[in-house]
Parts: sequence; structure tokens; C-alpha cells
Amino acid sequence: MEHPSQPDGGGVQSARCRQCGESSGGELFCAHCGSLQRPATDYYVFFGLKRVLVLDTEDLQRKFYELSRRLHPDRFTWKSAIERQYSLEATAILNDGYRVLRDPLMRAEYVLKQEGFDIGEQRSKDVPPELLEEVFDLNMALEELRLGDEEAHGQIEEARNRFLAMRESIDKELETLYRRFDDTQDRGVLQQVRTVLNRRRYVRNLVNEVEKELAREGQPAQ
Ligand SMILES: [Zn+2]
Repeated sequence: MEHPSQPDGGGVQSARCRQCGESSGGELFCAHCGSLQRPATDYYVFFGLKRVLVLDTEDLQRKFYELSRRLHPDRFTWKSAIERQYSLEATAILNDGYRVLRDPLMRAEYVLKQEGFDIGEQRSKDVPPELLEEVFDLNMALEELRLGDEEAHGQIEEARNRFLAMRESIDKELETLYRRFDDTQDRGVLQQVRTVLNRRRYVRNLVNEVEKELAREGQPAQ
């Protein structure tokens, strides 16, 4: 299994510090003189984390707060123009990277994208086959409800509960796949992650649709 090269931000390891000329140790702040280096654009590299899908989010949060403190604009007021520029770039990467990596779904999508997987919104031909019947029944019930059939209400609530249970089991499935990927670094597992993420997105949309309908129904008639 070929190990994928890190896009951008690679090569940081061997970089020499622009300030002191020593090896910066691949750290955001030079290991030798402490000056701010050009930030890595890869979120995992930036935070100094191993590229895993099951992430210790408390550790991530600690790093986030520590870096926020060290990158505070007040600390750069008297620094060189280049360090001020790096501090702005680093702050943007810090915030975007934290938002993405702390969310288990966005984190997986990020790794999939790095690995060249297409993670666009799912096309109708990708509708999970096991959901086709479910979706068909739901659309029938929604239609009946709009036509004033009271019984449809119960069906829709049942459908919502089924979708919520599905989402829960999908999340468990994802966690299992995440662990498997972390253990094996196998692209085949990422392929499975992508399929399950698509299914989850589909189910999430169904939940939203049903909840919107139930909320609308709760409103007094106009
Ligand atoms: Zn240095």
C-alpha cells in the first residue's frame, strides 16, 4: 500500500529557519529561535497530529487554544512583515482546521478529499438501494398528509424515528470504519467510508424533510 504524499505543507520537516538559519524542526515556531515559520496548509501537519480518523478532540482543543494564544496579533505588532504575514495565514488555517478536524464527518471528508475521492453531493443514482422503498413510502405518506389524511401523521412520525435510528447505527458503522482505516491506512476502507457518509447525508436530508413537515403541520392553518 503506497503511502500518499502530503499535499502542500510537506517539506516543512527539512525547512531551515529564515530567521536563524538553523533547522526549524518542522515546527510552526522555530525549535531554535522561536520565530514563526511559514504555516503548513495541511490541517494535520499544522496541528502536529497523526493523520487518523479517530481523533482525540480534547488534545485538538488544547492545541487550538495554545496556538490561538501564541498567534495572538498583539504578539506580532513589533515583528517583521513576513512574520506578521505568516501569523495571519496561520490564524486562518488554525480556525478552518479546528472547525474541520473537530467534526468527525468533516474530518473524514477532508481526508477523503486529500486522497482524491469525489465527495460532492450525492447523485440520485447513488441513492442507497436499501432506502428506496423507505423513501417511496415516505413520499406517499407526505402526499397523503398534504391531502388532509390524518393517519399519515402517525406514519410520518414513525418514519422519523426509523431514520433517527438509522443515523445512529450509521454513526456506529462509521466509527468502526474509522478505526479500521487508522489501523490499516487502507484506501479500500476509505471507499467504504465514502459510501457510508453518502448514506448518512441522505438519511440526514430525510430527517430534515420529515421534521420540516411535522413542524409545518404544527402551525395553525393560514
Ligand atoms: Zn530559528
